[in-house]
Amino acid sequence: MDSVLRGIPASAGIVVGPVHLLRWEVPEVRQRLIHDDQIDAEIARLHAAIDRARDRLTTLRTRAEAQAGAEEAAIFDVQLTMLTDGELLTAIEALIRQNLGAEKAFDIVLLEWQQHFARHATPMLRERVGDLTDVHIRVLSILLNLPDHDPVDVPKGSNAILVTHDLTPSLTLQLDREAIGAIATEAGTATAHVAILARSLGLPAVVGLRAAVRTLRGGELAILDGTEGTLTVSPTEAEVADARLRAEANQARDEELLEAAQAPSVTLDKVSMVVRANVDIPEEAELAAVSGADGVGLMRTEFLVVGRANMPDEDEQYRSYKRVVEAFKGRPVIIRTFDIGGDKLPVGGYPHEANPFLGWRAIRMCLDEPALFKTQLRALLRAAVHGDIRIMLPLVVTVDEVREARTLLDEAEQELAERRVPFKRDVPLGVMVETPAAAIAVDTLVRDVDFLSIGSNDLVQYTLAVDRGNVNLAPRFTPLHPAVLRLIREVAATGAKSDLPVAVCGEMASQPLMVFALIGLGVRQLSVSPRAVPIVKRLIRSITAQAAQEAVSLALASSGTAREIELLLRRRLRVALGEP
Ligand code: PEP
Ligand code: MG
Repeated sequence: MDSVLRGIPASAGIVVGPVHLLRWEVPEVRQRLIHDDQIDAEIARLHAAIDRARDRLTTLRTRAEAQAGAEEAAIFDVQLTMLTDGELLTAIEALIRQNLGAEKAFDIVLLEWQQHFARHATPMLRERVGDLTDVHIRVLSILLNLPDHDPVDVPKGSNAILVTHDLTPSLTLQLDREAIGAIATEAGTATAHVAILARSLGLPAVVGLRAAVRTLRGGELAILDGTEGTLTVSPTEAEVADARLRAEANQARDEELLEAAQAPSVTLDKVSMVVRANVDIPEEAELAAVSGADGVGLMRTEFLVVGRANMPDEDEQYRSYKRVVEAFKGRPVIIRTFDIGGDKLPVGGYPHEANPFLGWRAIRMCLDEPALFKTQLRALLRAAVHGDIRIMLPLVVTVDEVREARTLLDEAEQELAERRVPFKRDVPLGVMVETPAAAIAVDTLVRDVDFLSIGSNDLVQYTLAVDRGNVNLAPRFTPLHPAVLRLIREVAATGAKSDLPVAVCGEMASQPLMVFALIGLGVRQLSVSPRAVPIVKRLIRSITAQAAQEAVSLALASSGTAREIELLLRRRLRVALGEP
């Protein structure tokens, strides 16, 4: 019998494959007492489990080295070292000698160590808590013989659908991209970092599938439909055949759209639009470059950091940025400085915050860590020699932040000049408008910046006070709320008055109905996921800007709810497209 689990569409595409269930959480351990004559065997069992965990970590290390480089792989060395720590092993063995089962002994000691590390005065040790947790999960899963608890085990080419609670940075690093065909998570929303990452990796994904892990056994066949947001478990043969047909039809349609996408983005009433691509990882650049995009409107650089234990140095960053700018052969490439924090975190070392989205993130963190920030700025200025790079600052709320960033940019130029390294001067500097503060007071920013880009994912989150990653709030995350639309209209108008380009680069810009609304609000530049470029361009060529303006004026005048505005825009869009 099939059953259909419904979640939130996060990355388009259809995959038929076996479910690989991953419970990356510390399992519950029951107290188990052993007899004196079992102690030696129990200690041997502990060592066997630790050896097995070490084997797995070594496999992961090798793979991470090949996929992400030696620096990345180093995180697994830390965990390998923990597993040979004499003090740790002695403590666990001592508990086993007091007749405790190996798994409980291991559990108790690891919990003690985590508490001790978490409170330690040395930041280096506090940073290791995440590693200890990973070690804790890995060894306990082996000792308790829990099936499918490890991302290492997915056979290559199996096109597995990875089902897990949430894709944490440490899990992201463990993924074998040759084994996994799709991702399904219980947590997350379409704008959470897991969804962004899945789109970048080109993996179909459904998020917000509450209780999926509990419902599934693992190993069963399933169909993941990233466009519909469904996971069909144990499908019938007819459903599988249908899914395969739809996947083929999608591919054929994508190819057709892609061909048409090379044409310019001009509306029927000759309003020119700029449609650029969002690039989240450098490996994506070559494909994005042939999507029909007029450049990159947002490169999210934090994915060079998310899931890593250490920051990429200047040379590594320079190579990444150069790769993207070269792929786009002279077209503009807007690279955003690190937007670390919120739900995009490096492994360990980042302070735990009660309100991370209102916390020490993005430009705030970068300005407080000038060495880290200037390393990135130098890499950007060097890469700018190879094309048209523009630098964009995230989460700006006040013009002071732009001015401070400019001072650091000047210093970065100075440092490169002193080192006699080739770099470009006067690289354009723009900001993201992602907060109501930046949107309402956008006139205070315009004199100090070269362009504006509205980050609608955050703008909606902060305007409506709705956590963008919270699955329980997903229906309340409504970009068509009149407050959001008015802010966007205001920013577009102020930008136009000041002759500054205004783009929208959040998820909203990738959806046809929203594109219709954005054109109506006066936005003339969009940055969308590479796969959405052809669809967005087709929509632009099929409507008039005037129809969009009229629809939006009507929607805003009606002072309706987001839902009412959506229905009105849908009706108007159908008319504009000449559909019945
Ligand atoms: C946004 O907030 O809309 C945006 C594009 O940035 P991110 O999704 O990376 O926060
Ligand atoms: Mg943002």
